[in-house]
Amino acid sequence: MSFLTIENLEKSFGANRVVKDFDLSVEKGEFISLLGPSGCGKTTVLRMVAGFETPSSGIIRIDGQEVVRLKPNQRNIGMVFQAYALFPNLTVAQNVGFGLKVKGTPKSEIDTRVAEMLDLIGLSDLGGRYPFQLSGGQQQRVALARALAPRPQVLLLDEPLSALDAKIRVSLRNEIREIQRRLGITTIFVTHDQEEALSMSDRVVVMHEGIADQVGTPFEIYNAPATRFVANFVGTLNTLEARVLDPASGRVTLGQTEIALNRPLPGPTATLGLRPEMVSLGRGTHDTALSGTITEVDFLGSVIRLRADLGGQSLAFDTFNTNRIAPPKVGDRVELGIDAGDLLVIEG
Ligand code: ATP
Repeated sequence: MSFLTIENLEKSFGANRVVKDFDLSVEKGEFISLLGPSGCGKTTVLRMVAGFETPSSGIIRIDGQEVVRLKPNQRNIGMVFQAYALFPNLTVAQNVGFGLKVKGTPKSEIDTRVAEMLDLIGLSDLGGRYPFQLSGGQQQRVALARALAPRPQVLLLDEPLSALDAKIRVSLRNEIREIQRRLGITTIFVTHDQEEALSMSDRVVVMHEGIADQVGTPFEIYNAPATRFVANFVGTLNTLEARVLDPASGRVTLGQTEIALNRPLPGPTATLGLRPEMVSLGRGTHDTALSGTITEVDFLGSVIRLRADLGGQSLAFDTFNTNRIAPPKVGDRVELGIDAGDLLVIEG
């Protein structure tokens, strides 16, 4: 059995069902992200795991033990919130030692553990400071150390980076993942930032209106999105309507080009997804050529972002700038190379 399992979890606030039939199995030491837009229910799932919210129904087990009936302090969980939520009147060291003190841990043991934790987050010199004397990034590291000090079985992170500025966010992302790996602590991370979820996680749960649309590795989520929502929410995607010529073999026309998708496609039309980076200017070594007219050219330096019209449908794509080839101009007729295997059939 997995280390943390959630089965048929449901939560309603009045008539509003905000978490629906939610299942998840998390392995020991795994880093899982709940990714989705604001209001999709990810925080509510996390709060139910922590015990701050009671499920309407469903089961949550940690290390084999059913925890739904346990109070938050009876669950062996550490949590970090978006707002730093440090105790302003306690020093950094006192904040980090807080959970241990509450548990009645002997002072010498608290001191040792606090020193270990401050070392872990790289703030050994700042134990005597107060929260207001720290930067936002430092405060979040202290919040992480405070959550980890009692050696919880599970770490829950609720958008811990979203209040920080962009540069610190990226460095703290790596730092959190590094600490998580070093401790091997099972972690659930809530975010609405797809880049954060993709870059940090072993697996990502993409949530949409209270439902887990897809659970998979970042690679799977990006390359094989299970639903239209996942395809559009994670990364940039062109969606193109193709006319189905033969439903059995999945032969379609896209613009003026016939393509064999080699999979059954119901219906007279199919919606296909294509990532911008899968399209090349010129056919090159690709198996399929589309023809189009350039409608937009954004020269961004290393990358040129282009858009072409394929006879009524618009396709965004990127090409790398090499100073040997001048970018095309608006109105140019171009040939675009794609591989039929990169076309995603969008369902759901
Ligand atoms: P965000 O990123 O904005 O926090 P989220 O995906 O974490 O979004 P939740 O905070 O889980 O979403 O909220 C899901 C839905 O449940 C929202 O519509 C929210 O208004 C509602 N909700 C959350 N907590 C309560 C509550 N205590 N009482 C009533 N409705 C609530």
